[in-house]
Amino acid sequence: MIIVGVYAKELSSTDIGDALCSACGMPLTMTISQRCFHVFAIPLIPLDKFAVVQCPRCRLQAEGKNLPAEMAEKIALATKEARTSPVFFTGIVLILLGVLYYNIHEFIQGIRTSDYMADPKTRDLYILPISGDKSFPYVICQVNAVTSDSITMAIGTMGYHSESDAEKAIDKGKHEGFRYFIEEYTVPRAQIATITEKVKEEGDVTVLRPGE
Ligand SMILES: [Zn+2]
Repeated sequence: MIIVGVYAKELSSTDIGDALCSACGMPLTMTISQRCFHVFAIPLIPLDKFAVVQCPRCRLQAEGKNLPAEMAEKIALATKEARTSPVFFTGIVLILLGVLYYNIHEFIQGIRTSDYMADPKTRDLYILPISGDKSFPYVICQVNAVTSDSITMAIGTMGYHSESDAEKAIDKGKHEGFRYFIEEYTVPRAQIATITEKVKEEGDVTVLRPGE
């Protein structure tokens, strides 16, 4: 399997009425193609354009420095006019869409986190960098009870390398496993707010509300 490489695609093909094949006398055809760098067959970076002059009958071909010198001007013009195939921008467009999606997702998650923190509900899940293990600092906490002045939170037993690893664990339902949460703490609301606001300033808290 070829993962990365270069392929060429034809952009235009025209008959050159006044240039004839030296072997059989047929009018020659000029083809302009362009190379493109691809990754997993997805076009990523458009590269150079090049011309090929060919006889449609006997298939005699010329390209590069073998192109007929008297046609140099025509070839240069046709090369210039041949427009890069939109397909060649697929990879760039996909990358831009990915970046856009990621940013919108992060933005929306940030708004949700603020809303959920302001009005905590039972079963809310907090992802916080509070583990003592620096390699796996993120811990999942679950709100088990909410009263007017306190929140009871269970602390997960697993540490995760990143917030997204913790989110993946939640997606897989790991936090619903037997004895995932062992310790439970009841914390005054004011204190929760202080802790989460401090962590949030560092952009390191995500609150998820299952079912939403
Ligand atoms: Zn020919």
